[in-house]
Amino acid sequence: MRKPIIAGNWKMNGTADLTEALITELLAGLSGNEKATMVICPPFPFLEAAHRLLSGSAVALGAQEMSAHGPGAYTGEVCAEMLLTVGVRYVILGHSERRQYHAETDRIVNAKARRALEASLIPIICVGESLQERERGETEQVVGRQIDGTLSELTVDELKGIVIAYEPIWAIGTGRTATPQMAQDVHRFIRQRLASRYGEAADAVRILYGGSVKPDNAAGLLREPDIDGALVGGASLKADDFRAIIEAV
Ligand code: PEP
Repeated sequence: MRKPIIAGNWKMNGTADLTEALITELLAGLSGNEKATMVICPPFPFLEAAHRLLSGSAVALGAQEMSAHGPGAYTGEVCAEMLLTVGVRYVILGHSERRQYHAETDRIVNAKARRALEASLIPIICVGESLQERERGETEQVVGRQIDGTLSELTVDELKGIVIAYEPIWAIGTGRTATPQMAQDVHRFIRQRLASRYGEAADAVRILYGGSVKPDNAAGLLREPDIDGALVGGASLKADDFRAIIEAV
């Protein structure tokens, strides 16, 4: 049984006030009977406040990025050890915006994923094709290469400690969602790719869908057998919408 995860990626949004308001509103509306693991990923400066606000709740804290290095002379970077001190348990890695604007490659994402696992953080590793790649019929080729590259050298035990997010780039922030069938096809392909290398352990890996997930399309996506939750961008900035997606589980 794979317990679904609903994770909110706030991206570079928010203020201290919004962090407090959003978390307070989110927690106030939870019933306590949620069937999903819930995670929110605010920007670095608000992690400590978020940790304080979430304390004692069922919502876990995630970061949006981290360094491949340990503490040291890496100006501007934030390492796993620092994230742990502010209660972070999950970290998003290889998001398409990092790949696009910060030249992150599968190799870098792989180094970060291994570092996160060493530090007992749970990496949420993002993969996904561009619109041109999909239109050229290259989705499986691109996603397969990203899976192989980002998970390079991971052991079976390490595989069990990761989460994958399939996020077609053309669906991120565009309001254009993959249909449940389109998403399921890629999720199944990813699981088969994992199974060809890791055997049965692939069945335990949670594969989230991301790309314009909203309250009105969440249930349809989450009903698919290989979709084990959602990585939610825009809709995670509205407490009611994020809660409705959690309830869709
Ligand atoms: C994301 O940034 O991971 C994402 C899926 O964004 P959105 O939900 O806004 O498309």
